[in-house]
Amino acid sequence: MAIATTNPATGEVLKTFDALTDAEIDTKLQAAADAFRTLRRTSFAERAGWMRAAADILDAEQDVIGAMMTTEMGKTLASARAESAKCAKACRFYADSAERFLADEPVEAAAVNADNAYGTYQPLGPVLAIMPWNFPLWQAMRFAAPALMAGNVGLLKHASNVPQTALFMQDLFDRAGFPSGSFQTLLIGSAQVEKVLADERVAAATLTGSEGAGRAVAEAAGRNLKKTVLELGGSDPFVVMPSADIEKAAKVATTARCQNNGQSCIAAKRFIVHADVYDAFATAFVQNMSELVIGDPMDENTDVGPLATEQGRDDVAAQVRDAVDKGGKVLCGGEPIDKPGWWYPPTVVAELSTDMEMYAEEVFGPVAGLYRVNSYDEAIEIANGTKFGLGSNAWTTDPDEQQAFARDLEAGAVFINGMTTSFNELPFGGIKNSGYGRELSEHGIREFCNLKAVWIG
Ligand code: NAP
Repeated sequence: MAIATTNPATGEVLKTFDALTDAEIDTKLQAAADAFRTLRRTSFAERAGWMRAAADILDAEQDVIGAMMTTEMGKTLASARAESAKCAKACRFYADSAERFLADEPVEAAAVNADNAYGTYQPLGPVLAIMPWNFPLWQAMRFAAPALMAGNVGLLKHASNVPQTALFMQDLFDRAGFPSGSFQTLLIGSAQVEKVLADERVAAATLTGSEGAGRAVAEAAGRNLKKTVLELGGSDPFVVMPSADIEKAAKVATTARCQNNGQSCIAAKRFIVHADVYDAFATAFVQNMSELVIGDPMDENTDVGPLATEQGRDDVAAQVRDAVDKGGKVLCGGEPIDKPGWWYPPTVVAELSTDMEMYAEEVFGPVAGLYRVNSYDEAIEIANGTKFGLGSNAWTTDPDEQQAFARDLEAGAVFINGMTTSFNELPFGGIKNSGYGRELSEHGIREFCNLKAVWIG
């Protein structure tokens, strides 16, 4: 994939970039190694000061940053601005909390025959972050803020269709005052990743992206014995039981499916509805999906913009066609919109069967699959009947059922009567083919630390 900014609302290529040469990559890796020697000896207070300065820049420049993201990948301007604000919040969260999260962990000295003994969290070194385009600032920040606060150095290989956002990230941390080289963007293609990962100056890697990219990076990291965190795809269930507030569930379901033009890993993708409330939910949901305003993502009134890439639009269209060919019933949407750019309307497909692609694979666009079930057990069977295990949603006001869903849904997160969302305070990540490791909270910042045992006699 060429490294370029292409406006998905028009299909126009706006700016292209050359990939770094091997010599340029080497210079940047050396700068990262040098920066680590400096950064690891700075105090939490110094790093917190720079991190808060980064947050202030994000707030001050929100409109420009938002327009840049909308131009590169098509999310609505309102959601792009909100993403920038969310990133500022994460910077402040880790500026405030990192020292507490990484505080030494004393043990009873006498028990280990020492005068003093404790575990201490130390940074690992330069970490390679391979990131996707869908939340171009947030995904990268979710790694960068805790990594830098821990004293690690960041190397960002961003998705090839968001190069300007990628370059902004480096510029942001430079302007915020971090020592030069603390956070660098590598404009490289995915074929160049393995070589960077193998370099002895790179300590570890984190990847947010598809299952295929996750496997490739994990294999390369494994060969080089380097730790990885993988945040991969999802096909989150959204279960609606008879006691649920159907109107509210149908409203949240619409947002949960269509946020970010339907391109979110934790979007609800499979709507599993009890037969007692199926008709009421389906009617309200289809109406809500049909009423969403599709249009220019720069327009404040737009709910759903274009898909980010032509390939992405074609993949979604092919998945829906496959379902229809095998007996699926389209309740709204269902055909690409014929105009320049990569448009696909909010779509609901019912009567799905196990042989359909939509049943087994992630649908990365505003397309919902609707399932009718007759019992809790059947709902759980379909909800868990996927290779993914990222987020999950269940709607019920019955306290016993709420606890049962929290216990039985196979996922990294369970949200009851609400939409799966990432919060700085909560761990974020998946199980099964959605990956491993956690971001955010105290668990995220510890992923790239050496928990060193210190024994003093
Ligand atoms: P992608 O194609 O896997 O790309 C993600 C990143 O990996 C890009 O930087 C890409 O670079 C790179 N990459 C791709 N193949 C690679 C390989 N073989 N070796 C090394 N690097 C490789 O995913 P995407 O289309 O950008 O993002 C959508 C996917 O990400 C969805 O599956 C979504 O669910 C998932 N996602 C997961 C989370 C989460 O937190 N779990 C969050 C957001 C998105 P190029 O652009 O140069 O190809």
